[in-house]
Amino acid sequence: MDMPQNEDEWRQKLTPEQYHVLREKGTEIPGTGKYLNHNEAGEYTCAACGKVLFSSDTKYESTVPGLIGWPSFSEAADNKAVKLQDDNSLGMQRTEVVCGNCGSHLGHLFPDDSSPNGKHYCINSISLQFAPKK
Ligand SMILES: [Zn+2]
Repeated sequence: MDMPQNEDEWRQKLTPEQYHVLREKGTEIPGTGKYLNHNEAGEYTCAACGKVLFSSDTKYESTVPGLIGWPSFSEAADNKAVKLQDDNSLGMQRTEVVCGNCGSHLGHLFPDDSSPNGKHYCINSISLQFAPKK
């Protein structure tokens, strides 16, 4: 898959909804994502570039109000899968999660007591593609 070189090329490659979330750091409406209640075994890849980001093994159901409504993962697929960066937008201090390969916006990382390791990668379904285990 060729990596787009500029925002015009990203616009051509992605749907308008994908472009808004992945390239403009949008957030999909809670409870609407196609991978929210998705429990098949396999890998979740970046919808923009195809890199493996998360495994179904680390997907879990959070019970924290405010964090429910998007797919949640306790860990990334490996230590280069995603990058974390400070996000001080909207008057909040949050940790943004972006694709380690193409830099596209995926979601945010939050602390979560209901997570197996206390970490909650809150990821937009639209930023992901699913590849079932073979
Ligand atoms: Zn990517």
